[in-house]
Order: sequence, then C-alpha cells, then structure tokens
Amino acid sequence: MRKSVRIEGGGPAACAAIFGLCRSGFAIDLSVPTEDFTAPPLVLNEGTVQLLGELCGRSQLFAAAHELRRRVVAWGEAAPTVIAEPALSISGAHFREGLLRIAIDGLGASRGGGRTTPPAPPAESTGQAWTLCASAAAAPAGSRVERFGARAMLFAEVGLSDAANADCCWIEAGAEGWVFLAPLGARRAVVQAALPADPRGDAAMVLAGILGSTRHIARLIADFETVVHSHPIAPAIRHPLVGDGWLAVGSTAMALDPICGDGTGQALRSGVLAAALVAAAEEGGDRRALVAHFERRLLRSFGAHLAACTRLYQATLFGSRWQREIAEGAAATATFSAAANAPLEFSLNNLKLAPA
Ligand SMILES: Cc1cc2nc3c(=O)[nH]c(=O)nc-3n(C[C@H](O)[C@H](O)[C@H](O)COP(=O)(O)OP(=O)(O)OC[C@H]3O[C@@H](n4cnc5c(N)ncnc54)[C@H](O)[C@@H]3O)c2cc1C
Repeated sequence: MRKSVRIEGGGPAACAAIFGLCRSGFAIDLSVPTEDFTAPPLVLNEGTVQLLGELCGRSQLFAAAHELRRRVVAWGEAAPTVIAEPALSISGAHFREGLLRIAIDGLGASRGGGRTTPPAPPAESTGQAWTLCASAAAAPAGSRVERFGARAMLFAEVGLSDAANADCCWIEAGAEGWVFLAPLGARRAVVQAALPADPRGDAAMVLAGILGSTRHIARLIADFETVVHSHPIAPAIRHPLVGDGWLAVGSTAMALDPICGDGTGQALRSGVLAAALVAAAEEGGDRRALVAHFERRLLRSFGAHLAACTRLYQATLFGSRWQREIAEGAAATATFSAAANAPLEFSLNNLKLAPA
C-alpha cells in the first residue's frame, strides 16, 4: 500500500494537492483547521478556471458563478481602455465550500481513500512521509513569514447602478491607490480599494471616501454596504518553504498582491506541483532534487511577481504614501532576481514531474 500524505488546510491549494494525490492513488489524511476569516469574493481568470476544470470538472463548482467578459482600465490621465478579458466572479465562501466538498467526495472514491482528522501537531511529529502545509494556522514551527510592504485592501459588496455593466470589471488608479470593481451578478458587485497601509479609523467611511473620489467607478455604484473588510495584501513569503518531510503550498508558502489577479491560480498550481513531487519521490525519484525544484519553482514565481508589481507601481502616479511600498518592492525584486531567472531541472506535464 502506498504511503499516506497529511494535508493541513482546506483552501484551493489543499484541494489541488488532494486532486493530484488521489489520481496517483495516495491515501490522504486531511486536517481542515477552523479559521475565522471572511473569504473575499473572487475573480477567477481564464487560466484558473481552465485548471479547475482539469482538476475537478467545472459544472458543479461554477453553478453560482457570474460570467465576466470585459475589463476597463482607467490608469493615469489617459482615457479608459476596454480589453476583452473572460473571467468568472464567485462568492469566496461558495467557492471554498464547493471545491472542498468535491475534494472530500473524491477522497472517498479514490483508491487510496482518505480520512479527515483534527489539526495535528507540527509536521515533523506526524510520522508520515509527507505533510503539505496549506494553512497558516498549521504552519510548521520555526518557519516565519516575510512581507514586502504594508499595503492593505478594503473590500465590500455594493449595488450596481446599471445592469448593462454586469459583464465588465473596472480598475482605476487614483492618488490613494487602485480601486477595482467586479460584478457578482446583474445588480451586485465587489469593490476593492488598495491603500499603502491599513487605514486608520472607520473602514466603511474610508472606503466610501475613496469610492466617492474615483472618476469612473463612483457612477457605477448605486448603494454601498457598510460591512467592510480589510486584509494585508503586500507580497509575502515563508522561510523556509520546505522542511524535513513538509512542503508549504498556496498562500501559506507565498501570498501575492491581488493586483495580479492570479492568487487562486498560484495556490492551485503549487498544490498540483507538491502532489506531483510526492508522487515522483515515492516512485523512486531523487527526493533532494525534487524538493530543490519545488523550492526553486516557488521562488521563481515569487520573484517574477515582485518584479511585475514593482514595474506596475513604479509606472503609476500614486501619491507619496506609496513611495515606501515601491522602494520595498524594488529592493525585494533585486533580492529575488537570481531566483526569478534560475533554471529548472524538472517540468510538469499531465500533473507529473519529469526531468526537463
Ligand atoms: C482581499 C483578497 C482578495 C483576493 N482576490 C482574489 C481574486 O479576485 N482572484 C484570485 O484568484 N485570488 C484572489 N485572492 C487570493 C486568493 O484568495 C488566495 O491566493 C487563495 O485563497 C489562496 O489559497 P490557499 O489554499 O493557499 O489558502 P487559503 O486557505 O485560501 O488561505 C490560507 C491561509 O490564509 C489565511 N487567509 C486567507 N484568506 C484570508 C482572509 N481573507 N483573511 C484572513 N486570513 C486569510 C487563512 O488563515 C488561511 O490559513 C485574494 C486575496 C485577498 C486577501
């Protein structure tokens, strides 16, 4: 019988790892920690939707999703530009619950089978060959998170003034930061406002002030919900990303600035990669080389993300309060530039790792 893999977490990264490991016939010991946070509504880009389709089929998961076709970019003084950008918007809670349900159903049906258990002590003491850490609440003892900046996002649901705009996202840059609006249906949308630091004072008032000062997005909003959530959004990475028998995946390994629109995709890809690594190692592959590849692949993505964010923020006329974010991003980009360009020894095809 093949070894069992412990997975800590219940988000997209954990689910992607479950799908990958089930296909390879592993037994899975899943622990979903209780976490008290409001999952933000999500916009899933085309690549993420496609990957989810490949991993678990899309009909069930996206029954409550809303289709988006266009994005308007109002960046700087130039006239807004409309680009075709197919995507799906979905309630964060629906998405997480739906994906986890499909993954757990798959556990029952898979060859290896699976069970869910309460949270375990840190990875090293579980006695299992591998633990995949996909939850900050179950992060390995001794690891730490380094964050590059202090920016934060306020988000809330709003009413749309015109159903004709329901297939179109907007992103607009202002002096305070960027503001994003994504319809969730004919009449509802989520708005996100990125600020250079966690705002002081009443978050609803801060967000209302920012929305009121937008040149374009303000007129799309009919009413504004006063329940406003705040979350840090500066890029962050865990040190180390791997340890004795454990691999960190998803946002537990690295969190991306949501401006990239690819956080869920990145979480899924890291879960898939971890599952492929475990399968390759258990089939006799060079464990050290495979783990080194995993680490390098994550560092490379993180380096590329830092560079892209830094270029974008440097080219934008945000107010002076963003200077610290830009300087920290530039310094971090330099630190990670070698990792961003490092060659890779393996490539991933059909969810399997093979020498490149
Ligand atoms: C405000 C915000 C908006 C985002 N919007 C998008 C988007 O539109 N499209 C997209 O593809 N990705 C988006 N992301 C990124 C996406 O949510 C994550 O990349 C993805 O959920 C990571 O999956 P995971 O399985 O690694 O971790 P998850 O299980 O989702 O979370 C891992 C850990 O992070 C902590 N955590 C996660 N979310 C929160 C939260 N909101 N508050 C407090 N703690 C939290 C939890 O403790 C958890 O242990 C957004 C992220 C944030 C913070």
